[in-house]
Order: sequence, then structure tokens, then C-alpha cells
Amino acid sequence: MTDCIFCKIVAGSIPAKVVYEDDLVIAFHDIAPKADTHLLVIPKEHVVNLDDLRAEHGNLMQHLLFSIPKIAQQQQLDGYRTITNTGEGGGQEVFHMHFHILAGAKLPGF
Ligand code: C5P
Repeated sequence: MTDCIFCKIVAGSIPAKVVYEDDLVIAFHDIAPKADTHLLVIPKEHVVNLDDLRAEHGNLMQHLLFSIPKIAQQQQLDGYRTITNTGEGGGQEVFHMHFHILAGAKLPGF
């Protein structure tokens, strides 16, 4: 999608501090971190959110979920929280699916 900010990060047309990338997903530092470590993991394909998933996304979602502990290990995170917001009512502001990875001493209880 040409007007999607995360598609532009995937395309490399706007900068991001990328920490992991493979054929299907990319992970980068959130521009406005809400924890000591705040990463976003996104599918390269433009999927809006969990409500947008179809059966054909099964392999992609499996791959994305398995990438999260791999990224956490690479970043040497001592535990982390994973959040995905779905829809405006769920607090979603960027309508390209993303999983927040939050970690660090200041992480509040939930
Ligand atoms: O889940 P939600 O849609 O609210 O989160 C979007 C996240 O994307 C925010 O944490 C925001 O800081 C981040 N963001 C970013 N880089 C951008 C635009 C938004 O990291 N260029």
C-alpha cells in the first residue's frame, strides 16, 4: 500500500532502526519507545490486523510468531511483553499489523 508508513519502511523509502529482517518479516525500534526496549515486528505483506487474517496467512503468521523469540534472543532480552492492537477500539494507530515487543526495568505490571 503506497500510503502505509510501515509498507514504506519495508520498501526502505523511510528510515527505521532495523534489528531483524528476513523474506517475510522485519523488526525495528519503535520511533517513540514506551519501554527501555520497544521493538515492532511486522509482516512485509500488508495485513491490516488480526481481523484481516485469512487462511492463506497461516504460514506467514506462524513465521512471524516464531520470529519473536528469535529476535528477543538476539537482543538479549531478559523477558518481554508482546502486544498487538487490533482496530481503533483496541488502540491501533498504524493499520499495518505489528507486534510490539516491550522489555526493560521500567516495564509496568499489567
Ligand atoms: O499499536 P499501535 O498502532 O498504536 O502502534 C503504532 C506504533 O508505531 C507506535 O508505538 C508508534 O510509536 C510506532 N511508529 C513507529 N514508526 C513510525 C510510526 C509509528 O515506530 N514511523
